[in-house]
Amino acid sequence: MRRLLVIGNWKLNGNKNTITNLIIKLVEACANISKCSVAIAPPVVYLDLVMRYLINSNIWLCAQNVDVHVSGAFTGDVSAAMLQDLNTRYVLIGHSERRIHHKENDTYIAKKFFILKKIGLIPILCIGENKREFDSGHTESVCLNQIKSVIKLFGVEVFNNSVIAYEPIWAIGSGMSASPERVQIVHKLVRNYIANYNVSIANEIVIQYGGSITPENVTQFFNQKDIDGVLVGSASLNVDSFYKIVQAAENHDKSYHG
Ligand code: PEP
Repeated sequence: MRRLLVIGNWKLNGNKNTITNLIIKLVEACANISKCSVAIAPPVVYLDLVMRYLINSNIWLCAQNVDVHVSGAFTGDVSAAMLQDLNTRYVLIGHSERRIHHKENDTYIAKKFFILKKIGLIPILCIGENKREFDSGHTESVCLNQIKSVIKLFGVEVFNNSVIAYEPIWAIGSGMSASPERVQIVHKLVRNYIANYNVSIANEIVIQYGGSITPENVTQFFNQKDIDGVLVGSASLNVDSFYKIVQAAENHDKSYHG
């Protein structure tokens, strides 16, 4: 059964001091959370530090990226096996900031997806259109192509126990979220597309929304049938804001009936 999943992506922010303070406060705040899932994605060098505070907590560890190789001569890269060694549960792949700044393409991202599944970690496949694609009415085809590239290489079965995060690029960090009704249409389309291949995987897959989520707007998103959680950037760097978002998920009575 799906349940709401809230993930905080701290991106390239913080230092040893601020990250320690943030995670201590967050673990304390989330001590009674039981109805939704929560994860934090710190910068890679602080994964180990954060992991130590997450032992016996209600918060899972998420990594912001992974390499396609498991070991070898790949200077500067981090493997899925290494992330697993640190008790990581989720890994973001295909975030638009990596697609844009590191020129990651769909095939490369599909390989990351596959290696994570092989090792036993949960990929969070970020998809979404840019402003030009949005304005020209290409949102649906862009999103479906990003999913198709995984299915084409590895089959739909890899989406079993995986997560998709729909993040319109123009909504990320802009303070201008997409409309919840519009997001619902995209999520439904994505779920239907996967259902063409496998209905039970489609019913179980968690589809998050990301893009300028705040404590004030998050409930409108949870009210939509096919929005199963949120990926939060800026608001996750503030304990109060992030905890309010987690609380909104915890208190939301979402009935899933397939
Ligand atoms: C993100 O980068 O995944 C994101 C959703 O950021 P923000 O919440 O700041 O828009």
